Amino acid sequence: MDRIKPINSEKYLEKISKTDLSIREEELMRSVARLERPFEGLTSLGDEIDIKAEKYSIHITFFPNNQRTVYSAGPYRRYHRVEHLMLQHSEKIFDLTEIVPDGCKILVNRKSIAERGSVVSDGNIVIDGDITTPKMLLILLHEIGHVVDKMQLAGEDPVSEHPMSFTARKIRSERIATAFTLKFIRPFVLDSKQRKDVINFLKHDALRSYYLNAQKAMEEQGHPDASLDRYAQDISEELELEKDAEW
Ligand SMILES: [Zn+2]
Repeated sequence: MDRIKPINSEKYLEKISKTDLSIREEELMRSVARLERPFEGLTSLGDEIDIKAEKYSIHITFFPNNQRTVYSAGPYRRYHRVEHLMLQHSEKIFDLTEIVPDGCKILVNRKSIAERGSVVSDGNIVIDGDITTPKMLLILLHEIGHVVDKMQLAGEDPVSEHPMSFTARKIRSERIATAFTLKFIRPFVLDSKQRKDVINFLKHDALRSYYLNAQKAMEEQGHPDASLDRYAQDISEELELEKDAEW
């Protein structure tokens, strides 16, 4: 994530237009259902979440009650603010709250039935859903990926001008956030079935609508090569463009 690669909008979108998005609905549902089960080794709840498995641990702490409020009014006033989000595997330990810029706060409503994440207009990350499941941790990492990407771009635009460069920019940003997610989640996903679940979720659930919109827009432009399902292509190959994912 430390190198910003320039992107030729036209070539980039052509590649996206050839991405195979076909998957059996049941396979996707099974993958998502598995990712909705809480991590094994979950040992505490409340203001601290500890997940300790044989080869890794995840430790999340929230600010105490009297410090957690970021907004005094509005829809996020009851959200809990994350103090630390530590990911540890082998000898490596990352506190993701140190990776996000100072002004960015991570706010979570664990009781929300909706499961989603977003970066709100003032730059804070808002997560709806219980982050003790792999699915919600993926969503949180994805949003952190957006914030880190924006910080690294520092106002620069790596995408070439083209009638559809808006779409290319959107896809780039989603793929970068997904590559960031893969980089950090990989050590915590130990078997190939889980890896497949993660790829299925990220590619077919999270990225899918962006790809479909881009493919539709390409087709409407009368692009000669635009067609769905042309090549079967693994997301790891795709994300190599942004260098980070090496599944
Ligand atoms: Zn996104």
